[in-house]
Amino acid sequence: PGFDGPVRDWLSHRVAATPDEEALIHAPSGDSWTFRELDELVTERAGQLAALGVEAGDHVAVILPPGIEYVLLIHASVRIGAKLVPLSERLTASEVTRNLELADATVVVCGEDTEPIVVEASTEIPTISVDEPRWEGVVNLETIAPKSVSPAQWSLSETMILLFTSGTTGAPKAVRLSMGNILSNAVASSFRLGLSRTDRWMVTLSLHHMGGIGPVLRSPLYGTAIVLREGFDAGSTADDIDKYDVTGVSLVPTMLKRMLEKRGTLSDSLRVVLLGGAPAPDELIERCRDYSVPVYPTYGMTETASQIATATPDEAFDAVGTVGRPIFFADLWVVDEDGNVVESGDPGEIVVSGPSVSSGYYDNPEATEEAFSELGLHTGDIGYRDEDGLLYVLNRKDDRIITGGENVDPGEVVDVLRRFPSIDDAVVVGIPDVEWGERVAALVVPTDAEMELDRTAVEDFCREHLAGFKIPRLIEQADELPRTVSGTIDRDEVKDVLNEARPVREAEP
Ligand code: ATP
Ligand code: MG
Repeated sequence: PGFDGPVRDWLSHRVAATPDEEALIHAPSGDSWTFRELDELVTERAGQLAALGVEAGDHVAVILPPGIEYVLLIHASVRIGAKLVPLSERLTASEVTRNLELADATVVVCGEDTEPIVVEASTEIPTISVDEPRWEGVVNLETIAPKSVSPAQWSLSETMILLFTSGTTGAPKAVRLSMGNILSNAVASSFRLGLSRTDRWMVTLSLHHMGGIGPVLRSPLYGTAIVLREGFDAGSTADDIDKYDVTGVSLVPTMLKRMLEKRGTLSDSLRVVLLGGAPAPDELIERCRDYSVPVYPTYGMTETASQIATATPDEAFDAVGTVGRPIFFADLWVVDEDGNVVESGDPGEIVVSGPSVSSGYYDNPEATEEAFSELGLHTGDIGYRDEDGLLYVLNRKDDRIITGGENVDPGEVVDVLRRFPSIDDAVVVGIPDVEWGERVAALVVPTDAEMELDRTAVEDFCREHLAGFKIPRLIEQADELPRTVSGTIDRDEVKDVLNEARPVREAEP
């Protein structure tokens, strides 16, 4: 056997190496487990699943709120050699049905809170609960006597998780992530962020996204602990970072913004604040600089098993807005519509490749073929690299505005609007226009909600920084930007608001 395996689940290797190191801290209760203690619980869960007939190659769907049981199931599934299918606990019954079918789930695990939705989804798939079940036919995992299982032998190219994308640009897709994808990403991530035996990484992002499940999987690989929260709340998350001497945390920009608004700065135990998932406003990075928050702006996606480019704090403070350079092993290009690499400074589609990039979508050759070329994964994101090779992400390809035949990347316009002194936040979209095809339109949030924005001043400011065709022809103000349940900007709603403010212009007769 070579470096491509077989290897066992990382927890069973970790127990052989440093069994008495701290593995898991449950933030709400303060309870903690060493790797040996965690392994005992995981062995029991794996044995119980095995006793229920779960075996290597099965697809184990998990629909649970964040908690200890979720962590145990993640490790137990890998122990058995099954493929994990984490699903959001916020899905509707019909979405649950759809995702279970898309991922060919062979068994589904729920708990007290999610049993109703799984039962309503009414599939033929055997259902297990980690709590006392309320419906007939749902098996209570706790009452099952564990069978003995020997850890599965994995090859690195084998799919370990089927993880759904967020569904921003269409229906969520199930991404195949192999043990090798996750391993190479974890290794490269530690090269960029550093690694210390005393690290404690806080998990406050959802476990059905890479940002949440990633640190759980990496913990036994690194031999370092995670501090598990059950959800996010700005005040108590900041308190827990302090209380548990947390050294690292992954956050999306809105979370960090709220925490800084609440607390001013964050605990100085922090060594890494990994910030990604959405564009971070320049002011947020500047605030981190002013308050010495060690922020690592990062760019990644489900298909790349988390980070693909990450900036260090020095890079971030020096070149505000950048997400840095590709992590180790990864390659990254910015290409035009014909797939040719563009000059530095010019925007184009970001294409990535490397060992952490997925081999494609599960059972969906059409979507796989559309997204992957010989060069790599076409991310659907538009960005540019500066002279130093630092990457900046502007917006998604789908959000590009074409006005009078010219391409406008709304991210560029948003950056300028956000720099206008009395504008707090902005979103830029194209609205239909008979003459130009589309017109650039902006919805902005003023720093003071009472204030009526001086539109001429905003336009003049834009004219100073942008080519004429990029200047918003319509600027409306709002108290806040419409958002989807997952916290991303609801661009359709923004378009509706702006279209209502000024309906499609009729062509001159
Ligand atoms: P779908 O692929 O189903 O449309 P999604 O792309 O939102 O959903 P994820 O994989 O969760 O699903 O999100 C990855 C995307 O998030 C990236 O492709 C990019 O658009 C965005 N993103 C991540 N990090 C950043 C960042 N630092 N700056 C700007 N955008 C980012
Ligand atoms: Mg995507």
